[in-house]
Amino acid sequence: MIQFALVTPPASIKQLRVAALAGGVGGAKLAHGLATLLPPENLSIIVNTGDDFEHLGLKICPDLDTVLYTLAGRSNPTTGWGLTGDTFNVLDALGCFDAPTWFRLGDCDLATHLWRSELLRRGMLLTKVTNMLSHALGVRQPILPMCDMPMPTRILTDQGEMDFQVYFVQHACRPAVRAFHWPQVGNAKPSAEVIAALDTADVVVFCPSNPFVSIDPILMLPGVRERVNSRLSIAVSPILDGVAVKGPAAKMFSEVGIKPSAQAVASHYAGLLKGFILDKVDEAQIAQVRALGMEAAAIPTLMPGLLERTAVAQYVLEFALHLL
Ligand code: GDP
Repeated sequence: MIQFALVTPPASIKQLRVAALAGGVGGAKLAHGLATLLPPENLSIIVNTGDDFEHLGLKICPDLDTVLYTLAGRSNPTTGWGLTGDTFNVLDALGCFDAPTWFRLGDCDLATHLWRSELLRRGMLLTKVTNMLSHALGVRQPILPMCDMPMPTRILTDQGEMDFQVYFVQHACRPAVRAFHWPQVGNAKPSAEVIAALDTADVVVFCPSNPFVSIDPILMLPGVRERVNSRLSIAVSPILDGVAVKGPAAKMFSEVGIKPSAQAVASHYAGLLKGFILDKVDEAQIAQVRALGMEAAAIPTLMPGLLERTAVAQYVLEFALHLL
């Protein structure tokens, strides 16, 4: 009997083609681990741009830069943003003019924003600009902005509606969140590079990023959800033992009326995922996650350094190979 093998399934984790969906801090950590294990041509990192904003005449892309600096080995591990060893002379000088200094921009970090803004002013698309910045910093994996047009996240809070960075940095996430809003979603579409990365991926990995403000903006772009749904998709939980490692994810769950937990994250993505990885501390929730219609496994998911990032990435890829 003749057997037709239409596609040869990947035989090892290195052969897997992966599209990773990422925000900033949590996204960059897992992307770093994946980048250590996979050949650069087998990994694309699709990054949220809902956090982007204009500030002091510059285009700032916090999540893109966190991923870029992390993969370049230049991120500041203490703050989770900016460049390691950066100084703040320009910001201090701006403070003398009573100019706004609430958004911390280091001197070397400013070079990224200056050059990106200049290239965008010359008419270059954000995807191309990001590609040039990545090459200059020695990063070979494609870091793909989710779209080339603005798609800012607005936060509806008990203190009114505000821009994401005003909520996140200026108000330090203190206002209680009521809802999230993307006023420009009707004009936004994913770039051709994002579509191609999803269409050629064996696996889509949802990094442990904030589900509401890092992953949802990517998923709501036209055509993305359907494509993710047609692939093998696996998520790593950003909530451990009911809390976020960093940032407002758990607080946001509570404020929109959902008890924060790994299971709540799985439930948020239910219908899209074939696999879910929780932290070992949440092992007891495996059965509840499986009841949502996905395979589940528990491992240590804290990723302070490259060793842990590589270990989590290795597990994610083996889990994917097993589920393919
Ligand atoms: P942001 O845009 O900078 O807030 O970054 P992300 O949305 O990518 O990441 C924020 C999420 O990352 C938070 O919910 C954290 O709990 C999660 N996170 C950060 N570090 C880790 C880690 O080491 N392990 C896991 N599992 N989650 C993490």
